[in-house]
Amino acid sequence: MEFVGFCDNSVIESANDAIILADSMGTIISWNYGAQHIFGYHEKDTIGKKLQIILPERYREAHKKGMERYLSTGTPHVIGKTVELQGLREDGSEFPIELSLATWVEEGNTYFSSIIRDITERKKAEEKINQMVYLDPLTGLPNRHLLNDRLTQALDQARENKQIKYINDTLGHAMGDRLLIEVAKRIRDSMGKMDTVSRQGGDEFIVLLPNTTSDKVTKKAPKIVHLFTQSVVISEHEMFVTPSIGISLYPSDGRDIETLIKNADTAMYRIKEQGKNSFQFYTPDMNEIVSQKMKLEMGLRKGLERGEFKVYYQPQMDVISGQMIGVEALIRWQHPEWGHISPDEFIPLAEETGLIIPIGEWVLYEACYQNKIWQNMGYSPMRIAVNISSRQFQQNNLVEMISNTLKETELDPQYLELELTESIIQDSKYAITTMQKLKTMGIHLSIDDFGTGYSSLSYLKLFPIDSLKIDRSFTSNIFEDSKDAALVHTIIDMAHNLDLIVIAEGVEPQEQLHFLRQRQCNEAQGYFFSRPVSGEDLSIFLKNRS
Ligand code: C2E
Ligand code: CA
Ligand code: CA
Repeated sequence: MEFVGFCDNSVIESANDAIILADSMGTIISWNYGAQHIFGYHEKDTIGKKLQIILPERYREAHKKGMERYLSTGTPHVIGKTVELQGLREDGSEFPIELSLATWVEEGNTYFSSIIRDITERKKAEEKINQMVYLDPLTGLPNRHLLNDRLTQALDQARENKQIKYINDTLGHAMGDRLLIEVAKRIRDSMGKMDTVSRQGGDEFIVLLPNTTSDKVTKKAPKIVHLFTQSVVISEHEMFVTPSIGISLYPSDGRDIETLIKNADTAMYRIKEQGKNSFQFYTPDMNEIVSQKMKLEMGLRKGLERGEFKVYYQPQMDVISGQMIGVEALIRWQHPEWGHISPDEFIPLAEETGLIIPIGEWVLYEACYQNKIWQNMGYSPMRIAVNISSRQFQQNNLVEMISNTLKETELDPQYLELELTESIIQDSKYAITTMQKLKTMGIHLSIDDFGTGYSSLSYLKLFPIDSLKIDRSFTSNIFEDSKDAALVHTIIDMAHNLDLIVIAEGVEPQEQLHFLRQRQCNEAQGYFFSRPVSGEDLSIFLKNRS
C-alpha cells in the first residue's frame, strides 16, 4: 500500500480510530484525538516517543524487528494487513486492538501509519459466541464435555424429527442414530480446521465459520448441500438426506448468539417451506413471511428447551361423596412474547410435527413426579390422569418409556391413569397389545372424549379399559338438547353393563351435576368444582382439606 503525502489532518482528527504516524525510527510524529481516547496519552506526551509505548512489553521486540526488517528488505510482514493484538493504555491496562499498518515514502524517508481500533466489545461478543457454541479455546474444537452431554441429550431427542423419525419408525432408532453420525461426519470432514460443527438437537446442526464473508458462505453452503447428493448407506439400507441451510451473519444479523441462531433458524424454516435441499440467508422481512404455523413449531421446539411449559391439575370428583378422587394433568404454555397459548392450538401441531413425543414424555414425568410428591407429603393417594395422543401410542417404546417414568418417579402404577382417545383404537394395529401391557402393569386406562368418535360401546368390550369419559359437548348440552341427555343416559347404563366407570367432563352448572347423579354417573370434572390449577394451588387445596 502506498500513501501519497500526509493525510488531511481534519480527517485524522475526527476519526474514532487511533491514527498514529511514526517515522522510520518508530518515533511518533502525529497522534490524533482517537489515539488519545483509546490509549489515554495526550498528544504532547507522545510526540517524540517510540511507537512501542502502545504495546505491552512482550510485543515490543517483535514489533521493532518487524519495522527494521521492512526497512532493510522492503518485504511487508504486517504492512498492508490488519492484525489483532493487545494494546497497552497509559494506565497500564491491556485491551484487544485491531491494527492496520501502512507505509509511505516521502523525500527518501519512510513513514509508518498505524490505524488502531479498540475491539474490546467485539472480542467480548466473539468470546460469548465461542462459549455458547462450546469452543475449546486451545484447538477451536467443541469442548468434549459439553458435546457429550449434548450428544446424549440430542440423540434422545432425535426421535422427534420427521426425516429421522421416519427412519426410526421404519428401521429402528439405532439406524436413525447411525444416520446422524454419518451426516455429522460428512459435514465435519468438509469443514476447515477453524470451523466448528455442532449438533443442536434432532437433526439440526450448527456450523460456525469464523472470519468469513457472505461471499465465502455463498460458496460453502452449496458444497454442504452437495455432500448429500450421494445417499448414505448403512447396513445395506440406502437413505437420502435433504439438507436445508439457514444462514445468519455476525454482526449484521445479530450481535449475540441467541439472535444469530434464531435468525439462522428462521432462514432454515423458510427454505424447508420452499422444499428443502438448498440454503438461504436470513433477511429481516423473513420474520413476516415465515408462516404462523412455522413460527408456532419453532416456538414449541424452543419452548420445551426453555422450560416454558407447565402442568396444571384439574380435580376429578366422586359424584356421590363429593370427594376428590383424582386429577387430570393438563399442559399449559406461557410463551415469553405471545403469552398464553391454548393446548387446543398447539397440541394438534405438536402431533403433526412429532413434537408431542418429547412434550408428552415431559408431561408424564411432571405429573407422576408431582403426584408422588403429594403422597410423600402425606396426602391420601389419588390417581393422576395424563392425556396420551394417538401419535404417542404409535411409538414403539411407549410402554418402556412409561414404565421407566414410573420407576424414576417411584409412583405406584395404580395411581396413574392414561386418557386415550377413540382414534387410538382405530389408528394403531398394536393398540390392544399395548393396552394390555399397560393394564398388566397396573395402570388405569380410560377413553377420553367418548361419544365424539365412531366406536360403539360393544366394540369397546374388546379393549382392556377401566373408564369412559363423556365428552364435554354432551355434558354441556344435557338441558339444551334432549337427544344429548338421552345419549348421556344410555352411555352411563351401557358402560355400567360393561363394568366401566363413567366420568363426565365439563360440568359447569349445578343442575348438570344433579342430572348426572340421578343417572348414576360415577365421577365428574369441570369448572363447577374447579378450573385446572397450578401444582402449588392444588397443594394448598390438599393441605386445607386434610
Ligand atoms: P381434554 O383432554 O378434553 O381436556 C379437557 C379440557 O376441557 C381442558 O382444556 C380443560 O381445561 C377444559 N375444561 C375442563 N372443565 C371445563 C369446564 O367446566 N368448562 C369448559 N368450558 N372447559 C373445561 P385444555 O386444558 O385447554 O385442553 C384442551 C385439550 O388439549 C385437552 O382436551 C387435550 O385433548 C389436550 N391436552 C391438554 N394437555 C395435554 C397433554 O398433556 N397431552 C396431550 N396429548 N393432550 C393434551
Ligand atoms: Ca383429557
Ligand atoms: Ca376430553
